[in-house]
Amino acid sequence: MDKELGKRLLCGLLLIAVISLLVCRGGRAVRTLASAGAERTLVIDAGHGGFDGGAIGATGTTEQDINLSIAQRVQSLAGFFGVRTVMTRESGDALGYNEGKSVRDNKITDIKAREQIVRDTPNPVFISIHLNKFGDPQYHGAQVFYSPNHAGSRALAELLQNDLIAGADPDNHRQAKQAESTIYLMKKLDCPAVIVECGFLSNPAEEARLADAEYHKKLAVCITSGYLQYESGV
Ligand SMILES: [Zn+2]
Repeated sequence: MDKELGKRLLCGLLLIAVISLLVCRGGRAVRTLASAGAERTLVIDAGHGGFDGGAIGATGTTEQDINLSIAQRVQSLAGFFGVRTVMTRESGDALGYNEGKSVRDNKITDIKAREQIVRDTPNPVFISIHLNKFGDPQYHGAQVFYSPNHAGSRALAELLQNDLIAGADPDNHRQAKQAESTIYLMKKLDCPAVIVECGFLSNPAEEARLADAEYHKKLAVCITSGYLQYESGV
């Protein structure tokens, strides 16, 4: 994408975010009157960690570090706009890791700990950040998957998908899609919940972009902007 066009799109997204914030503040005042304590908390989930690196690209790029980098940037940006946030993991480690246990048992412990964090959070909205991988390297583009358990999940996923296309990759023609029933957190959580697959590590051009911290910033702006629109009911 042309650099100037990219900058203009990002400015547009930030403008949407600021407008959303203003609308959101007005809406929140009304909600507070209607039901005290109903303010949402954005739970940001950096997929994988520690023993579980996630997908690995052809040049060795590992998913878990990129997920955390994007998640941390979303947390900073969302916090800047006054959103209450919780991170499922803030370091490179998995949750509840026990070296005496099998990989399978550690994976179960880790995913259940993430589920518990969401359950312990009042009025949560869950955004899980991952990267994709596929056998055929031609496939590329971010895609958002939503849980079937809450009507807000699909709305959130569509807003995120739109902003990821407009702000990060106009050549991406993917659409938000319901998550497979085998995805544990999408099956179990009953709050608004989505997984953002930020791109394919199996596509060499996309792997190169995903390895670049500047691109993490761009993805974080898109995700935050989509969330702010969701929160404000745009
Ligand atoms: Zn993953």
